[in-house]
Amino acid sequence: MNQSSQITSLVKQAAHAAGFELTGVAPVHEFGELDRFREWIAAGRAAEMQYMEARNETGALKRASLRTTLPWVRSVIVCAINYNTAEPYSTQADEPQRGWISRYAWGQEDYHDAVLRRLRLVENQLRDGVTGSSALQTRCYVDTGPLVERVYAKYAGIGWIGKNTCIINQKLGSWLFLGVILTSLELEPDLPAPDRCGSCTRCIDACPTDALIAPYQLDSNRCISYLTIEKRGAIAADLRSGMGHEVFGCDICQDVCPWNRKAPATGVVEFQPREGLVNPALEWLAEMTDEEFREKFRGSAVGRAKRSGLRRNAVIAMGNSSDQGFAPLLEKLKADEDPVVAESAEWATKKLSRKNTECGSDTLVRRF
Ligand code: SF4
Ligand code: SF4
Repeated sequence: MNQSSQITSLVKQAAHAAGFELTGVAPVHEFGELDRFREWIAAGRAAEMQYMEARNETGALKRASLRTTLPWVRSVIVCAINYNTAEPYSTQADEPQRGWISRYAWGQEDYHDAVLRRLRLVENQLRDGVTGSSALQTRCYVDTGPLVERVYAKYAGIGWIGKNTCIINQKLGSWLFLGVILTSLELEPDLPAPDRCGSCTRCIDACPTDALIAPYQLDSNRCISYLTIEKRGAIAADLRSGMGHEVFGCDICQDVCPWNRKAPATGVVEFQPREGLVNPALEWLAEMTDEEFREKFRGSAVGRAKRSGLRRNAVIAMGNSSDQGFAPLLEKLKADEDPVVAESAEWATKKLSRKNTECGSDTLVRRF
């Protein structure tokens, strides 16, 4: 075994010991997918997520130009950990009084911290295992690195990029957190995972806001995940109905994916749901005080939406619920001190009353 194979195997053993189910190595190339990322940015599909458009000193998009942004990187180690828990899917939750928080955000700890801690263990073992490691360069990232992680995950053999744009592994499905270690070492690369979407289009058909504008192409401007988490201020009125009961993120295009039908559940303690976050009560979220928000979501990925965003989303979900029981609360929220919540409550009240009228005429049609 040559030295590169030895170190690659040491890294994979260390990753397994740290709790990662999958580990692979990708070389640093100008992959075709990076050109598509450039086109995606140029077409404005990243919406207001300006961090995606960060550029290096040559003006190139950092995330599409690892070679010029960090020229010392020779290999990208990609580690994946399953975060699926033994809870229902969003498509199985239909109580109108309840909303949906994306599966990845239920955990006891923000996944960035939980994954980064494990990556550091692998990085330390790598440094210990390399003689003359003072010249060795490494960097660990969870979501924040100057690269499109899922492209490297594909070339590291972790899984293929599905038509829903998620990384999917044949055995584990797509409920995977990814972490990467960039290194100056030439490690032994893995083979890319073959695409197994075939003729399936379930994710595209199920997307309620038509955010999957074509296979493998997501328009963030329309994606509920973007709208509920990243978007600040009012959400465009024509997208609100499609948001359904989603209050933080959206799992629909993964819930319907056949590769997630038998996705195993993890026993990792940090990823087990915090109390109340699986299918949360909309009223609770909409009425949450500042103090309660801070307390409940301290160290949680949900904090990213901010209290204002979460309340706005809960109010929109109430409008979509057809539950007239929300009418008095929405009436009160129309005068909320947060103008975004107040305007959303105005919309939700009208939506509820429209539903009421529609139901009334529906009943008439059926009755006669
Ligand atoms: S996350 Fe939801 S809104 Fe976004 S593409 Fe998937 S199904 Fe559509
Ligand atoms: S639902 Fe079908 S098309 Fe979409 S990612 Fe899964 S396998 Fe691919």
